[in-house]
Amino acid sequence: MNKSIISAVALIFLMSGCSLLDHKQADHEAHWDYKEHGPEHWGDFSGTCDSGKAQSPINIIPTQSVHLDSSYEITFDEDVHTDAKIFDNGHSIKVVPQKGGKITLHGKDYKLIQFHFHGKSEHTIDGRQYDMVAHMVHQAEDKTLAVVAVMFEVGEKNQFIKSIINNVGKEINIDPQDLLPKDVSHYYHYVGSLTTPPCSENVQWYILKDTDSISSEQLKTFRKFYIDNERPVQPLNSRHIESK
Ligand SMILES: [Zn+2]
Repeated sequence: MNKSIISAVALIFLMSGCSLLDHKQADHEAHWDYKEHGPEHWGDFSGTCDSGKAQSPINIIPTQSVHLDSSYEITFDEDVHTDAKIFDNGHSIKVVPQKGGKITLHGKDYKLIQFHFHGKSEHTIDGRQYDMVAHMVHQAEDKTLAVVAVMFEVGEKNQFIKSIINNVGKEINIDPQDLLPKDVSHYYHYVGSLTTPPCSENVQWYILKDTDSISSEQLKTFRKFYIDNERPVQPLNSRHIESK
């Protein structure tokens, strides 16, 4: 091989190497979503989404759940009046309170840092997907997370949801306790993950059994923002679901 051929081959190799690099960079820059870069591609954004063995959401089968270990019971202390920013973050309607309340488990406080909505529930119960869900994300000082899921069913109008839907892009005063259903003493608990990239695990999940209502009109308005922002259910693997 003469010198000019070698350099031509090297040049082609370099060029293809560059274009591969460009692709990689483009992939990194492209953001995850629920369509083109949907859940089956989330492994490109975070390996845990693909390889994790304790992922969320899951289908909960009540007859296969076990009694809750009492040390995992939670107490709610969400009744605070706080200013909160409501915004459309491109994946969901998200509400960030300035000073959220907390839940306590294992003697550890988890502060409410944000809540957001999915146009249909992500967790299913006996295969049933609820009309909408709110995920109340709590964080302890050591950065570990506990999420409370509040399921919605179509029925009466919901005043709290009304104030959220009407104020997207604004800051208003709220009491996050108004998001909770009447009975917060019964729930399913298991250890899972974030349901969006990076799909980080070791998240304490609490799915309340009592539900909130939302009018069909409100649901329609909400779904103008988002309807298909749910990750499909993930394998339970060796985990247990606890029930209280
Ligand atoms: Zn969520």
